[in-house]
Amino acid sequence: MLKLDGKLILNELNQNIFVKDLHSNYLYVNATYTNLLGVTPAEIIGKNDFDFFPKHIAEKYRSDDAVVIAKKETIETKEEIVVEGQIRIIRTVKKPLYFEGEIFAVLGIFWDVTQYADQEIEYKKLQYGLNKAQALANIGHWELDFVSNELFWSDEVYRIFGLKPQSFGATYEAFLKHIHPDDIELVNKSYMDSVNEKIGYHVTHRIIRSDGSIGFVEERCEHLFDDGMNIVRSIGTVHDITKTKEAEHGLVLAAEVFAKMHDGVLITDENQKIIQINQAFTNISGYELEDIKGKTPAMLSSGWHTNEFYQKMWEEINTKGKWAGEVRDRRKNGETYLAEMMIVALRNDAGTLTNYISITTDITDRKEKEELIHNLAYFDSLTQLPNRILFEERFHDKVSTLKRTQKKMAILFLDMDNFKHVNDTLGHVIGDKFLVQVALEIKKSLRESDTFARVGGDEFMIILDDLEDITQVLPTAQRIVKSFLNPVIVEGRELFTGVSIGISVYPDDSENYIELVKYADTAMYHVKESGKNDFQFYTESMNEKMTSRMKIQSNLRNAILNNEFFLEYQPKINLETHTVYGMEALIRWNHPTDGLIRPDIFIGIAEQTGQIYEIGLWVAAKAMQDTKDLQKDGKYLVVSINVSSVQLENEFFINDICKVAYDIGLDKSYIELEITESHIMNNIEKALVTLQELSSRGFKISIDDFGTGYSSLAYLKKLPAQTIKIDRSFVLDIDKDDDDRSIVGAIIAMARSLGKDVIAEGSETQEHIDTLKYLHCHKVQGYYFSRPIRIEKFKEFVENF
Ligand code: C2E
Ligand code: CA
Ligand code: CA
Repeated sequence: MLKLDGKLILNELNQNIFVKDLHSNYLYVNATYTNLLGVTPAEIIGKNDFDFFPKHIAEKYRSDDAVVIAKKETIETKEEIVVEGQIRIIRTVKKPLYFEGEIFAVLGIFWDVTQYADQEIEYKKLQYGLNKAQALANIGHWELDFVSNELFWSDEVYRIFGLKPQSFGATYEAFLKHIHPDDIELVNKSYMDSVNEKIGYHVTHRIIRSDGSIGFVEERCEHLFDDGMNIVRSIGTVHDITKTKEAEHGLVLAAEVFAKMHDGVLITDENQKIIQINQAFTNISGYELEDIKGKTPAMLSSGWHTNEFYQKMWEEINTKGKWAGEVRDRRKNGETYLAEMMIVALRNDAGTLTNYISITTDITDRKEKEELIHNLAYFDSLTQLPNRILFEERFHDKVSTLKRTQKKMAILFLDMDNFKHVNDTLGHVIGDKFLVQVALEIKKSLRESDTFARVGGDEFMIILDDLEDITQVLPTAQRIVKSFLNPVIVEGRELFTGVSIGISVYPDDSENYIELVKYADTAMYHVKESGKNDFQFYTESMNEKMTSRMKIQSNLRNAILNNEFFLEYQPKINLETHTVYGMEALIRWNHPTDGLIRPDIFIGIAEQTGQIYEIGLWVAAKAMQDTKDLQKDGKYLVVSINVSSVQLENEFFINDICKVAYDIGLDKSYIELEITESHIMNNIEKALVTLQELSSRGFKISIDDFGTGYSSLAYLKKLPAQTIKIDRSFVLDIDKDDDDRSIVGAIIAMARSLGKDVIAEGSETQEHIDTLKYLHCHKVQGYYFSRPIRIEKFKEFVENF
């Protein structure tokens, strides 16, 4: 029943209310509506919309009415109208009115929802923002209305399940369909328990997306209750944590790898302070984390590498971000180990350095194996000597040096005499031991720098390089041959052997390695043929040279005892005063069979064998005695005695020569020691010390052969020499060669500025003397005045001068 009594109340409403009959004529309107239209109720009842609205609008209203009447259902419409120039949004609800089961009228209510429409836009915006936020956070939300049993999913829930947002109405069944079968029970139970216990829940489970892929979600749910503590609403969130799970899984994997990997890992902070190591690092280094935490990796350094090595390493890490190479570090127990290492500098997204990571592989074992292989390839396993391959490599290495220095090298081919016999009669074990012993024996005759290889059963080869003269091979070859004059002792047994040595010379015989080896081998066979235990050169002239040399060497041994040496004196003349002021003592050797031998021939050999020391003392004694005797005749002259480098380097020399002078009773101011410039320059610091000592003991010092030894002016100043003796070679052409003359002129000027005396040796002609005088060199020695002569003759020379 429609009660129109209530119409007073209806008039108070904000809603416009009307009732129309089935022909769309107004039966009733409330005051709100009449006010809106600006008419009185009487003016509207019985009329229809065509009386108040434009035709097209009235038609729309009438057709809406018709729908309500025909379909007997409620309809809702929204429309825009213009009121006082403003667009307003109007919402209209029309529903049928029944009387005794029959539709008899249409009830309409409409109201201005412009304000709500704005809110709706705001809501839409909010919804959109929320959606976005949910998408970004991978969190969707759902709501279950317990009263209406309606379920709502936000767009993100659909997306999480791999569905098009809002593509269908949310249902619990659809939800279950997307839960991983193994997790359905868990999820169901969590929800049911939470409903029963009326508390929220939190569960993480797997989902199966619509494309079949598996994801992880974390669900949270809260319930809303009415006054009777009945749940009216459940609100839940679904958080897609697949990425986190995967990352977590990745981290777990990384941690696993870190812990289990074979390579040592060390992590520092940006200040290189150690913060983490793995088990493998502990295995390699022996350090536990607590041993080294907070320290820098420098504590692992073994001291093997130079500071520059580390500097370079860090430079590369800091510029290129990483470094790789081999490092020798030290274990906790003090042992060193070789590591293949990679160091990486880690930076964060902002580019700031955060960590250094080093990855270490202990390659000590590998290196040892490599070395073993290297040894097998290059060394003889029995004697540990280089083998033929390494020998040849060394040869080629040396060739490149010799090409620069212009020196020579000798290849010695050694073959043991008697080895076959040892092997045959005593067996291979003794044979091997014999060879080891032989190798040790030969080594004793060599310098550390000589290359010594075993190239066959009882065959060895040696390289002697850096030779100025081929005769320098002699002492070594002789020592080796001599060492086998005594038996080799193996297990208490005396085994007699000998060695045959063949020698070829680079570059004289050949520059080709194979040829040189062949020649040395040939020479060795000659030795075998001619009686063994000896050495021979491949080239005959060398053998001759060597033979005569050896003869001199052996003859020298008895020369002093047999009184075969004697001295000659060459006068030294002062051109200004025209006096003989001194003489140089020069040794001569009166060989019993070969006659007179010049010092140029035997001094060098005596130096090599060391015999010069004894010979030198003999010369000194004889020369001092003669000088002393001259004084008895009233001739006070200075005697020059040549001193070789071998003498000077002998630690007893100063003492011995002083003792000679003392014994003879000759004042040292009458003794001048001549030392060649090249010798002084060879080892200037040492020579300076010795010469200063000699000078302080009262000897005069003269620098012999001056001009050939590349003195520096700085050193010349320091030398305690009173006299400089200009080398013969500059005097020879002094009157003809402008260069020589200017050199001598320069030497004289320089000597003068240093307050030193100058004497020119080798003055043979009047022209020499004239030129020297012209150059202000007033002291001379040479054939022009006299050859070296015996003391008796010298006395006469002085008396007649
Ligand atoms: P040196 O010390 O340069 O001696 C000068 C050499 O030049 C001597 O040769 C001498 O005979 C030679 N000589 C002198 N005046 C002339 C000349 O006008 N023209 C030419 N062409 N030569 C001249 P000698 O006596 O054969 O000595 C050669 C070298 O032997 C010496 O050179 C010296 O280095 C060494 N020597 C000689 N006696 C001794 C000695 O007692 N001890 C040591 N350690 N070495 C000695
Ligand atoms: Ca001299
Ligand atoms: Ca000289």
